[in-house]
This record gives sequence, structure tokens and C-alpha cells, in this order.
Amino acid sequence: MDRETVTGVVLREYAKGDNDKLLSILTAEHGKMLVLGKGVRSLRNKNMVATQPFCFATYMLTKSKSGMYYISESELHEAFFDLRGDLCSLSFASYVCEVADHVSVEDSEDVPLLRLVLNTLFAAAGKKRPTAQIKGAFELRLASVLGLSPELSHCAGCGSTDAPEFWLDILEGELFCADCMAKRGHGEETVEYSGEWSRPLCPVTPELCEVMRFVISAEPTRFLSFSLPEHLAADFSSVSERYLLHHLGRGFPTLDYYKQFSKL
Ligand SMILES: [Zn+2]
Repeated sequence: MDRETVTGVVLREYAKGDNDKLLSILTAEHGKMLVLGKGVRSLRNKNMVATQPFCFATYMLTKSKSGMYYISESELHEAFFDLRGDLCSLSFASYVCEVADHVSVEDSEDVPLLRLVLNTLFAAAGKKRPTAQIKGAFELRLASVLGLSPELSHCAGCGSTDAPEFWLDILEGELFCADCMAKRGHGEETVEYSGEWSRPLCPVTPELCEVMRFVISAEPTRFLSFSLPEHLAADFSSVSERYLLHHLGRGFPTLDYYKQFSKL
């Protein structure tokens, strides 16, 4: 097909030539698409605004002779201008888009991922919740969308659903109560496993466990609808980040950048 109409969010941009851009767009119809924005770096170009990072828009695409799609028309739905007003929000949105760019695939419809990215960007732009809360929820929910969700409903050792203290085994995605953890022969945050590699563990209070269970099980539009006590914000952000990054097997430059501007 030589023409396509897709709706999506701009994840990344790469300057090309004097006035062009290559854009990585997460679309509802075809997952990630790499498309060409001809002349869009010119202020007078009609597609200039809709081809900025984070923009959510409908794009009319035409296939060129080389087989690459270029943007012929665009209709902007949301520019997320409020994300650009401070470096904390801007760097966080960049992190969300870099992670989404890494996990998304081409030629594969991915509405849950697009919905998660959009809900996260809307929340960050709205500035009604602390960014650390949005960040932790995004990371944990993304693990769930990718099928990497931890099992948080009960202790993997004895089946207990409530305990004074839990530990999350990040490698296995399993929860252990303090008693079962003691039976495994340690109480340290990092231990040697089979003498070969260290096993990352995070302490999880029942309160934090409750928040994490909610984020994973909530409806797609509701996963941010919880209040996070201030004393839990740092732990929530940290455990979600450790879990996601461990399972993706990498870090992200935009996350390091975000940490320069955020308190958590
Ligand atoms: Zn147990």
C-alpha cells in the first residue's frame, strides 16, 4: 500500500540533511515506524509542530520509491507543551520515550504500550502527581505490559499474602516473606546465588506491596490513580526502576539525565 494513515506519538527524532528528520513514531496500527519528515525542521513547514518529540498526532504517510514512508499531512492532537517547561519533566518524558523506543517493535500493533506512554505523558504534563510516583508506576506497569510482571500476590515460599515485611526477588519476580527469606539463609540485600552471580533483592513493606499490586492490576486508564505517601516515594521509584532495568538488561542515558534534575 502506498498510503497509510496512522496515529501515534513521536518517540525519537534524528536530524537528516539540511531540513529533514527521521522520526521513530509509536503507532496504534503498526507499532514502531521509522518515517521521514521532509523539510519539517523549517519553521514554515506545515508538519513542523506535529513532528516534535512527544507529539501525539495522526499522520498521513506516503511511500517513496525507496520504500520509506514520508509524512505528507498531519493533524496534531496533543503537543505536551507543558513537558518542556522544566528540565525534570522534559528529561522524564525523554526517558519514557527512550524506553518505549527500545521495547517497541515494528509491524506489530501495540495499543497497550501506546496507551501506557500517552497516559504517562499526560500525567507528567498535568503535574498533579509527583514525578517519582509517575515514574515508578510507568516502570512497573511497563514490565506488566511486556509480560514481565512480578508475582506480588503472595510469598512464593509459604503462600502468605500479608507479612510484616516482604522481599522482592528481582531476578525471579517473586515475593518472599521474612521467614521464608531467613530459611533461604540470608537477610542481606544482595547475596551470592549458587556461588556464581549475585541475586538482587529489594525490601518491600506491606504498604509498598499494596501500591505495587494496584499499579499492576488496575485498569489501563487507572494505573496512576493512587496516592503515594511521601515516605514511600523513593522506595517505589527505586524498586520499580531496578525491576524494569534488570529485566531489560540495560540502563538509559535519559534516566541518568533525569536523575540530575529530580530529587528522587
Ligand atoms: Zn513465606
